[in-house]
Amino acid sequence: MSASAVTAVREQAGDAWEDWTWQMRHRVRDVASLRAWLEPTAEEAAGIERLAERFHFVITPYYAALMDPANPACPIRRQVVPNVLELEDSQGLADPLGEVAHSPVKNVIRVYRDRIAFCVNNECALYCRYCLRKRMVGEPEWAMKRRELEAAIAWIRATPEIRDVLLTGGDPLVYSDDRLDWLLGELCAIRHVEIVRLGTRLPVTLPYRVTEALCEMLARHHPVWVNTHFNHPKELTPEAAAACDRLTRAGIPVGNQSVLLRGINDDVETMKALCEGLVRMRVRPYYCYQAQLLEGTAHFRVPIERGVEIFRALRGRTSGFAIPQYVLDTPHGKVPLAHPYLRGRDGDEVVVESFDGTLWRELNPTK
Ligand SMILES: *Cc1c(COP(=O)(O)O)cnc(C)c1O
Ligand code: SF4
Repeated sequence: MSASAVTAVREQAGDAWEDWTWQMRHRVRDVASLRAWLEPTAEEAAGIERLAERFHFVITPYYAALMDPANPACPIRRQVVPNVLELEDSQGLADPLGEVAHSPVKNVIRVYRDRIAFCVNNECALYCRYCLRKRMVGEPEWAMKRRELEAAIAWIRATPEIRDVLLTGGDPLVYSDDRLDWLLGELCAIRHVEIVRLGTRLPVTLPYRVTEALCEMLARHHPVWVNTHFNHPKELTPEAAAACDRLTRAGIPVGNQSVLLRGINDDVETMKALCEGLVRMRVRPYYCYQAQLLEGTAHFRVPIERGVEIFRALRGRTSGFAIPQYVLDTPHGKVPLAHPYLRGRDGDEVVVESFDGTLWRELNPTK
């Protein structure tokens, strides 16, 4: 399929293209609708067919338009189009972080004393093939009914240590403005809840969702922080930049959490372009996650040593705040993965290694 055919789909949609509800209603969900964008390879077609019962296949038209129809290795396409390789993972688990065991109440995950991840929604605009919450996204049993949300809010109200509530999912921005407004209002009314954060991929996968009205509503509940999820420089479109700009102009600090993915962003040049592109959009790279030991994702996982080398290569070669912390999430919290710059003590000195490999000694108090 040619670029002009992509333009044709857009033109047919007219102004509705930029309406997020139109985008949600016109999502790709099967081989027939995928064919409007590209001709699937044998591996992709077999993946769609054989994985249909296992994990949802959904793509927004906006994100589909970023896929390269001529190249199955396209970093956008590989994130969302199923592949039979997903059946060849002998190690992955459904719930590698034991999130279910860490839930005091449905969809609240507590690993830390002072903060929780609250999966308010089981839906996303599209489904990423490597999603950590594959077991729950798009599955009706994980949907939150009003009374279940109220039960979770009641638990937070009764747990005074919780000062930071991270709304995640699924994707909290798939909610209507009204429902989100209600939820934020309930949380902000709890005296010990100091900040609310939203984890959302919609600035990347459906940037039209980030309307002025949404941003004005969010700003009424400050302090609100947003973390989004860009993985590749191709995702840094003018539309995505405009969505992030609307958020930052509403006073919302915007961070990015990416996942290190084989063949997508696991090289220094791509990661550097992603991080530098993000800071040009005033989005702060926050975390880059090691891909979890998650079912059906062996073909995305990268050795941790290679990840460490990628972030080591960025140190000293780009703005410090353009470099995210590379982390491994575990059932016991997130673990920073970094090159050992601190080499150790030698008598009354400490030995450290700089970005270019220079060893430096410095007097270091013993107590
Ligand atoms: C990631 C995460 C948080 C937030 O961790 P920060 O390091 O503060 O960003 C909180 N709770 C759970 C369960 C998490 O997975
Ligand atoms: S947007 Fe996030 S929660 Fe939704 S499928 Fe992708 S990685 Fe999973």
